[in-house]
Amino acid sequence: MSCCKMDLKCTKCRLSKSRTQVVPGTGPCSSKIAFIGEAPGKDEDLRGEPFVGRAGKILDQALADCGVARRQVYISNLTKCRPPRNRKPRKDEIAACSEYLESELAKISPDIVCALGQTVAEQLLRTKGKMSVLTKKEHESEIGGKRVRLRVAYHPAACLYQRKNLGAFKESIKRSLEAAGLV
Ligand code: URA
Repeated sequence: MSCCKMDLKCTKCRLSKSRTQVVPGTGPCSSKIAFIGEAPGKDEDLRGEPFVGRAGKILDQALADCGVARRQVYISNLTKCRPPRNRKPRKDEIAACSEYLESELAKISPDIVCALGQTVAEQLLRTKGKMSVLTKKEHESEIGGKRVRLRVAYHPAACLYQRKNLGAFKESIKRSLEAAGLV
């Protein structure tokens, strides 16, 4: 279930050449919160769903710790196609895909957007910043011409390599869910 009219044959950028399939956002269009990651990885590219690999398990667990099921929330990415070898998506690829993200967020109109990781935070806030600072407060931004409340969390994959980030990640997820009135 996606809230975005995704062109599953999209060829707007070079990622269309190397992907297995487009990975649209998933979750209810009535969701009060939208989690936005960077780009699909290998598992997502094969399954066609965002955050279904190891990083996704960490996100699922953080939600479950707050009594929230994954199917209650909307989950998507800046780019809907996997960059080769999981490199970061490039500026022009993010720009080419932005109309999809804008259309998802316009349809859902979530109370809060949670940016997963520094790349996503900097993209959606249009500013650079340290994660230790960005994660501490609620922000306001404009996406697709609409004001949105935004919180920042470490990317769940950052918790795979740096276990010390896990506590901060879970705290940010809890605060985001609180801001959405889900806990
Ligand atoms: N990392 C992301 O940023 N998005 C996914 O969907 C999976 C891993």
